[in-house]
Amino acid sequence: MQHAATRPSRLQRWGRTVVDAVLPPRCLACGEVVGEPDALCGLCWAAMSFFAPPWCAVCGLPFPHPMGEGAVCADCARQRASWHRARAVLRYDKHSRQLVLALKHGDRTHLAKALGLWMRRAGGEILDRADLLVPVPLHWTRLFTRRYNQAGLLAHAIHAAGGPPVAPDWLVRRRHTPSQGRLRAAARARNVRGAFALRPGRSVTGKRVVIIDDVLTTGATVEECARVLRREGAAFVGVLTLARALRAGG
Ligand SMILES: [Zn+2]
Ligand SMILES: [Zn+2]
Repeated sequence: MQHAATRPSRLQRWGRTVVDAVLPPRCLACGEVVGEPDALCGLCWAAMSFFAPPWCAVCGLPFPHPMGEGAVCADCARQRASWHRARAVLRYDKHSRQLVLALKHGDRTHLAKALGLWMRRAGGEILDRADLLVPVPLHWTRLFTRRYNQAGLLAHAIHAAGGPPVAPDWLVRRRHTPSQGRLRAAARARNVRGAFALRPGRSVTGKRVVIIDDVLTTGATVEECARVLRREGAAFVGVLTLARALRAGG
C-alpha cells in the first residue's frame, strides 16, 4: 500500500513535465545547470572515463597502445568466458558511480534515456546483429522495494535508441542472492551459481542474445547468465554494461 501512496499521481507527473519544460536542464551526474537536456556538464564530461579503442577484441579492455586487429588481453587469452564479446561505456569509478547510483536509487528514470543512447553507441558491434536484449534480473523481493530493475530500464532505453527488442523477463532469478557488493571474486561466483534460469516456455536456441547490466565488476553475474543462455542453445552471447570496473592500474 505504501508503494501506491508514494507513486506520483498523474497530476504530479503532469506538474513535473511542466516544471521540466520551464526550468533549465541539469547535468545528469552533478545537477549543475547545462545547456541541453540529458547531458553532462563540461566538468563531469571531462571527469568520466569513456572506453575507446584500441581495446581487447573479446572483453573491450582498453589497451594503452594499438595491438593489432583482433588482439586480446591477457585475461581473455588465459580463460574464455561463457560470453563471446563484452563492451562497456565507462570505467566504473567515483564519477560514473554517480550515474549508476542515480539510476538505481534515485527516481530519475529519464536518465536511462541518455545512458541508453551511450550504450547503443558503445555496443554497436555486438548489438547490430543481435536478436534480443536480456537484462540481468533482480529477484522479485528486491524488485518490490526498488520498483524497477535498472538493467531492464537500460535495455528498454537501448532498444528505444535503435537497438534490438528486449526480452525483459526471459532470464529469471531463481533465488535471492545476498548483495554482491562486499564479496570478493570467488565468493561472488559461488554466490550466483545456479541463481538464474531461462523462463519456462522461452527459447534462445540459435539466437544472438546480449545481456544488459548497469555495472560489471568481477563479471560473476553475467558469466552465470551467459552460462545459462549458452546451455539453452544461444548462438551468440554478448555483454553490454554501462560501466565496468578495472583493477587498479589496469
Ligand atoms: Zn556535472
Ligand atoms: Zn579481454
